[in-house]
Amino acid sequence: MSDTPLYLDMASTTPVAPEAITAMLRYLGADGCYYNPSSAGHRSGQVAADAMSGCRTTIAGILGCEPQEIIFTSGATESNNLALRGIAHAHASHGRHLITSQIEHKAVLETCHALEQEGFEVTYLKPNAGGWIEPEAVKAALRPETLLVSLLHTNNETGVCQPIDEIAAVLAEAGVLFHVDAAQAAGKFPLNLNETPIDFLSLSAHKFHGPKGIGCLVIRNRRQLRLQPMLTGGGQEFGLRSGTLATHQIAGMTAALQLAAHSQSQDYVHVSALKKQFIKQLEQSSAIKINGDTERSSAYIVNFSINGISSDALINQLATTVALSSGSACSSGTIDPSYVLRAMGVEGDALYGAVRASFSRYHTMTDISQAVEHIIAAVRRMQELD
Ligand SMILES: *Cc1c(COP(=O)(O)O)cnc(C)c1O
Repeated sequence: MSDTPLYLDMASTTPVAPEAITAMLRYLGADGCYYNPSSAGHRSGQVAADAMSGCRTTIAGILGCEPQEIIFTSGATESNNLALRGIAHAHASHGRHLITSQIEHKAVLETCHALEQEGFEVTYLKPNAGGWIEPEAVKAALRPETLLVSLLHTNNETGVCQPIDEIAAVLAEAGVLFHVDAAQAAGKFPLNLNETPIDFLSLSAHKFHGPKGIGCLVIRNRRQLRLQPMLTGGGQEFGLRSGTLATHQIAGMTAALQLAAHSQSQDYVHVSALKKQFIKQLEQSSAIKINGDTERSSAYIVNFSINGISSDALINQLATTVALSSGSACSSGTIDPSYVLRAMGVEGDALYGAVRASFSRYHTMTDISQAVEHIIAAVRRMQELD
């Protein structure tokens, strides 16, 4: 695929790890375990059911939760919807207030907007200039009728990590439920639910080299917590998410997460070096501004603006050579600047010039330096055109 661009858009999606592809293939064909795990009445179904419990146990071991606390979903969008709608709809009689932030993924923001239409009240916390939510701001927004606080772990546009541990401590003390959208964090950062009091955790496999269309919602202490399901039917996933389990997808996600957990620290060191090289090489020829608190930023994402260069024009110039993003995949394609950066107070050229590059364990230093050379050349061409 030498004529496809150098892909620096891993925050949007990643290629499936070979190990995960191998795992998936075992669940598809007539010679494989293609059975329905709900058909436990016969030996074949039981084999599939056992395989799925194995996956649940593996994922639970990595995340520090119980196997029965994992609900398989179609991805982080569905997990976010299930946590927010599930709690809101089951507990509306106890309170109708939710807290989130202005820098969430649309899967949370649009769900909150929908809940507002149903009469719920939502507080959208503003981030500081560094792109993170202060624990004190969360504390100050709490009300006796607050049902849930929902915040992302790592912002998908800026890569800025939120002070999740501190906020979790505040909420545990206040006795308020905490949902964390960890789509950009799972497999990249150590997440141990036995150490951090998080009640709901959303994951998406395709962000950590698993297949698309699969993820999970972890629900801590699920037995003590009432949630209204969105999908009703055969009662799979403890009644919270009906539908035949996507066995090959689950096997792929499990293999990908296992691999990521195994190579997490090694990958992080590698990707940190890639990001450092990217910034250093770009800085040598262009005046760039990094958006978001660099001290709190994930090594997997860099959001930057090049002085005098608009992001849409740059991304267009690079269309065939380097795949970059001007924000989230869902909001690019429109010329609206990023609502995340806007909320952080980024304005003018920095706002309209913001570009995101995102990396993976499979990138090499050569990939990065070639990509930066393309970017530098594109910037020169654009400056000459001016
Ligand atoms: C990608 C992403 C999602 C959506 O995940 P899907 O599995 O694609 O639905 C949600 N939140 C964040 C932070 C993401 O990066």
